[in-house]
Amino acid sequence: MAFIGMDVFKQIIDREAPADIVYEDDQYIVIKDINPKAKVHLLVIPKEDGLITAKDVNLDRLEVFGGLFWAAKQAAELEGIGDGYDLHMNVGESSGQIIPRVHLHVLSPDFECSL
Ligand code: AMP
Repeated sequence: MAFIGMDVFKQIIDREAPADIVYEDDQYIVIKDINPKAKVHLLVIPKEDGLITAKDVNLDRLEVFGGLFWAAKQAAELEGIGDGYDLHMNVGESSGQIIPRVHLHVLSPDFECSL
């Protein structure tokens, strides 16, 4: 896998591309995955630029990374899966990440996880 050329999530944040938005605040946007792998499949995306993969975490950025869990919880509750859900993050192209902006997958428990 390799990164696709453009950051479509930035376009969604800027309302230059369409998306099914389920939650949004000053720091995050949560959308429905266009190719869902479970009955509910959401993507939590930080609005801060410059976060390509989770390897961009550092001590100054702990809050924005930690907030992904907060936004995931809000969105999961809104989508009716607040009781339990899977979280998944691909980190880097070799792990299967294709969009060059950090994002956390939130999946309903019917997700067939290989862990
Ligand atoms: P990843 O492989 O972790 O980078 O996951 C990228 C995810 O983004 C995939 O599950 C795609 O189905 C999803 N995706 C790609 N483009 C869009 C889009 N325009 N709207 C919603 N989801 C998208």
